[in-house]
Amino acid sequence: MHFSTIDLRSDTVTRPSPEMRQAMYDAEVGDDVLDHDPTMARLEERVADVLGYESALWVPSGSMGNLIALMMHLRRGDAFLAPEHAHVLDSELGTAAWLAQGIPRILPHDAGPGRPTPETVAAAVSDGPYFTLTTTLLCLENTHNFAGGAVFDAEEWTALLAAARERGLSVHLDGARVWNAAVALGVPVSDLTRGADTVQVCLSKGLGAPVGSMLVSDAARITEARRIRKMLGGGVRQGGVLAAASLVALDTVDSLADDHAHARLLADGLRERGWTVDEPQTNIVLADGPLTVAELADLGIAAVGVVGRTRFVTHRDVSRSDIEDALSRL
Ligand SMILES: *Cc1c(COP(=O)(O)O)cnc(C)c1O
Repeated sequence: MHFSTIDLRSDTVTRPSPEMRQAMYDAEVGDDVLDHDPTMARLEERVADVLGYESALWVPSGSMGNLIALMMHLRRGDAFLAPEHAHVLDSELGTAAWLAQGIPRILPHDAGPGRPTPETVAAAVSDGPYFTLTTTLLCLENTHNFAGGAVFDAEEWTALLAAARERGLSVHLDGARVWNAAVALGVPVSDLTRGADTVQVCLSKGLGAPVGSMLVSDAARITEARRIRKMLGGGVRQGGVLAAASLVALDTVDSLADDHAHARLLADGLRERGWTVDEPQTNIVLADGPLTVAELADLGIAAVGVVGRTRFVTHRDVSRSDIEDALSRL
């Protein structure tokens, strides 16, 4: 191929920046399984603080963060509520059932892409006799990946939390890309995370860290989560090498606005070229067009198919001129 591929498959394809690699090289480390890694401890304190929680636990992946949360919230055979095509439902290999032993109840997006209404949440919890399934957890996703990076705001979050509490549910937020939601809305990220029992955020998506997610909660739950992480094989020793890159990544949250602008540029260009495009709310563009993913690849544009659409994701390793280049190839 005479040109390089513009990789829009996911915001997980980013490479660690020179600053991250330097921070990893310089990181002060300990044994985080045995007792303490100072750089890991700094990262955990900082993320707990930014998200408005008492404590945080680093985990190697967002999937493990979600799984640990579900394992803490669900007893065998409990039902949990999640919006259609949530990552915990569609993309975690059924661990919510396999390992957390929950029974999924799928909520429609009746408030808009990715978002159930508070009424739907309330109505999904059944008031039956003693043999009725017990529903114990609401799991929300902001931004909603397969709904095209769709955002809900603090007001909606508060209303959904209230509906869940009213029905006695615990709440877990899959906030893999909640950083994008906060930047898109122009609010502190804690406005979109406070009030849940547990929140999972990814460092390795738009923020560009090479590895890692964080689970936040109160101190008692994080103590329990640390035990479950070890049980799942997720304890790491000199984790500070990874945490150091994440501390650098956290300094760059504001630059997600560039990715959002690039997504809008791409969406406009695709529309001009005859594609049907959902207006992007963050860094994800869902579209239907005349080319398949394989045909796009032949043009040096890497995308993926999700929920029957073509998905393009902007990230810090694609520039405005890369987007313009992609559009000219189309
Ligand atoms: C990527 C993602 C996860 C899981 O993160 P991994 O680090 O890939 O396990 C969870 N939820 C959402 C919405 C995601 O997009």
